[in-house]
Amino acid sequence: MTTRDSIAPVRFLAHRRREECGVIGLWAPGPRIADLCYLGLFALQHRGQESAGIAVTNGLHIDEVKGMGLMTEAFRKKRPTMAGHAAIGHVRYSTQGGSVPCNIQPLFAYPPGGFIGLAHNGTLTNAESLRQELEATGSLFRTTTDSEAILNLLSLSSDLSVEDRVANILHRVEGAYSLVLMTPDRLIGVRDPQGYRPLCVGQLQPGQYVIASESCALDAVKAELIRDIRPGEMAIISAEGLRFRSFGLATRQSACVFEHIYFARPDSVLDGQSVWRTRFRLGQQLAREFDREADIVIPVPDTGITAALGFSQTGGLPYLEGLIKNRYVGRSFIMPQQISRATAVEMKLNPVRANLEGQRVVLIDDSIVRGTTSAHIISMVRRAGAKEVHMCVSSPPITQPCYYGIDTSIRKELIAAVKTLPEIQASLGVDSLHYLSKQGLLDQVNDPENRRSCLACFD
Ligand code: 5GP
Ligand code: SF4
Ligand code: MG
Repeated sequence: MTTRDSIAPVRFLAHRRREECGVIGLWAPGPRIADLCYLGLFALQHRGQESAGIAVTNGLHIDEVKGMGLMTEAFRKKRPTMAGHAAIGHVRYSTQGGSVPCNIQPLFAYPPGGFIGLAHNGTLTNAESLRQELEATGSLFRTTTDSEAILNLLSLSSDLSVEDRVANILHRVEGAYSLVLMTPDRLIGVRDPQGYRPLCVGQLQPGQYVIASESCALDAVKAELIRDIRPGEMAIISAEGLRFRSFGLATRQSACVFEHIYFARPDSVLDGQSVWRTRFRLGQQLAREFDREADIVIPVPDTGITAALGFSQTGGLPYLEGLIKNRYVGRSFIMPQQISRATAVEMKLNPVRANLEGQRVVLIDDSIVRGTTSAHIISMVRRAGAKEVHMCVSSPPITQPCYYGIDTSIRKELIAAVKTLPEIQASLGVDSLHYLSKQGLLDQVNDPENRRSCLACFD
């Protein structure tokens, strides 16, 4: 039943393996498993729009369907339907390039002890050296993803149980990884010792469990959140039930703050914190740090909305919709390549002149990366009659690219890495520009002393 893409490895993409994805695994014996996996994965679509895949097993066979694009495209012709006891799914983040069918996850290996399926969210920082080492000793790679190195390492020592193998090999793997693994009789969730990327476990009903990147996927299948998998921990699910096992070296947790700022869905709860509440508090903090006079607060939809509500409440300024988003347009970087960024912004957003005309506007967005989208949005707000535009950003200036999984492009494209605040202000065309302070961010993610958060892209 297994279908395989027999595409040769494409080496030209080896330098671009920055991936931020969504993963899910279910243990729910019965005929509904494929549908449940589809429903749960659909709730994680925001974590990746480049490709999607689902694999279901009954222990003997694997029913696997993968495709490029959004889930609606990837599964348009066919969806997995087989009854089984376990399933895993993956949606992959869209980056420029890097989209080749052989890289679509889940990935499978077939060592003597039984198959291993893998869905990976994260980026391994020693992937290239692991790959060279594995290739030198005869391992074959079928993809250009770093995830396959984990799969090949797991396939080597097949005399041990899968969880022992996981515990053994992960000491050699560096970087960010939240994994869901499926074998004929086990489902295993693994979170790296720094806990860069989220991963949680929930219960559908007694004996039935879900592992997912975000709790919104648990809600989608009506599962109850049990808890997050801890950094350096495995959640092992089998016919005997659920258990946790620690494999990690004791290291400092480095949870990605961008999950809270921008990436995760606001209805998710990550490491015990509501993303919506955190975003709201970031907006409140921005208002406390803002020292200008203004008339209204408007968000850049969708990701600026929650912070704008917090800003409005604490700053005592009315919240208005000043930009309307075309709901059929996705995140701007998955637009067709031929059209300009300005046209892309105009396709996505349109100003509400009635709310903007003559107003001193506080414009709220979650982050500025290259500054190109923001500049187009600001000029749109001005053309619609705003008297002043004060841009408030609910994250500090991004001055470093991320090596752990979110594609914030290379350093020279990051506007805050190459320009000073007055220069950025001038190139955006704003009357004033305010970034959230690092301490303000730490306070609002409930980590004032910076013991658990990664802030590497702000340093
Ligand atoms: P810019 O003005 O830097 O061109 O674009 C900023 C906008 O891009 C923000 O609204 C932010 O929500 C969005 N954005 C899209 N992709 C990413 C990403 O991978 N990381 C971050 N931090 N923001 C992104
Ligand atoms: Fe997240 Fe930035 Fe750390 Fe990357 S560098 S994991 S984007 S906080
Ligand atoms: Mg945005």
